[in-house]
Amino acid sequence: MKVARFHAPGDIRVEDAPEPVAGPGEIKIRVRNCSTCGTDAKIFKHGHHHIRPPRVMGHEIAGEVVDGTEGWAPGDRVQVIAAIPCGTCGECRRGRMTVCPNQESMGYHYDGGFAEYMVVPAKVLAVNGVNRIPDGVGFAEASVAEPLACVLNGQELARVGQGDDVVIMGSGPIGCLHVRLARSRGAARVFLLDVNAERLEMAASLVRPDAAVHAEGGDSAVEQVLKLTEGRGADVVVTAAASGAAQEQALRMAARQGRISFFGGLPKDDPIIRCDSNLVHYRELTIVGANGSSPAHNAQALELIAGGEVPVSDLITHRLPLPEVLDGIGIVSRGEAIKVTVEP
Ligand SMILES: [Zn+2]
Ligand SMILES: [Zn+2]
Repeated sequence: MKVARFHAPGDIRVEDAPEPVAGPGEIKIRVRNCSTCGTDAKIFKHGHHHIRPPRVMGHEIAGEVVDGTEGWAPGDRVQVIAAIPCGTCGECRRGRMTVCPNQESMGYHYDGGFAEYMVVPAKVLAVNGVNRIPDGVGFAEASVAEPLACVLNGQELARVGQGDDVVIMGSGPIGCLHVRLARSRGAARVFLLDVNAERLEMAASLVRPDAAVHAEGGDSAVEQVLKLTEGRGADVVVTAAASGAAQEQALRMAARQGRISFFGGLPKDDPIIRCDSNLVHYRELTIVGANGSSPAHNAQALELIAGGEVPVSDLITHRLPLPEVLDGIGIVSRGEAIKVTVEP
């Protein structure tokens, strides 16, 4: 079968590999869609300390069971989690699976979905990490359940709800999902902000925020948000960009008792920002993080897609066969697409 394997930074090869065989307690799937995201572009450029090459990449996975263990039959349509909690540590036992310190990931510790066939490890099944795809949801849409699950975790932590004015900083695929999810949770107004005017326009034409804010540097982002919110600021600000400057601005555009989600992580070698502590103190701000998603978030994300609360099919702008996976990663890193999905 064909796979796309990471060998070293800048070196991802589409090559032949033997079909994997499911061991006891595992299932083997025929991958139908594995979508790409900014993380894949990051791994391609810099590698990742959890990836020991060669490794089949791809973590936004949907496919069909071809060889099952108990409870699964050939032909079952399934979506697979990316982040695998251990299920037994102190955090997992408290239901905090997104911060399991023993977390492993598909496409990092285990071969992922940029392949015709893939084996789902027993430890994924042990934490209910394989979801049946609801009727009416295609494989490509189902593959987007994983990033949507992460977005759901972020908005739960930031308590996005009825009547909130929400600012999403960053108009990539994650930003688009944030806009749609915020609407489904009852946000009053959702503003989408980006420094890249072209990408902002492409995203805004699809997800139709109440305003698309082109931030031109300096204080422009903060000023525009304050103007749009009658001087109050936003109840929730989500930074869906790997930008310390965006995080600093987010603190200044939040309303009193506002919540700020540092959704996107910062580069490992540059993670320090300046935070006006008095802004946090006097305005009673809450800053929250977000680290992936739990198996339950993945199941909920599939339901949100199936029920039409968060449509995703129109966000899938590019469908590529496996041999073109590198083109897909290039398209993602240049910000030319919303969602690129690979169909092995
Ligand atoms: Zn991803
Ligand atoms: Zn754990």
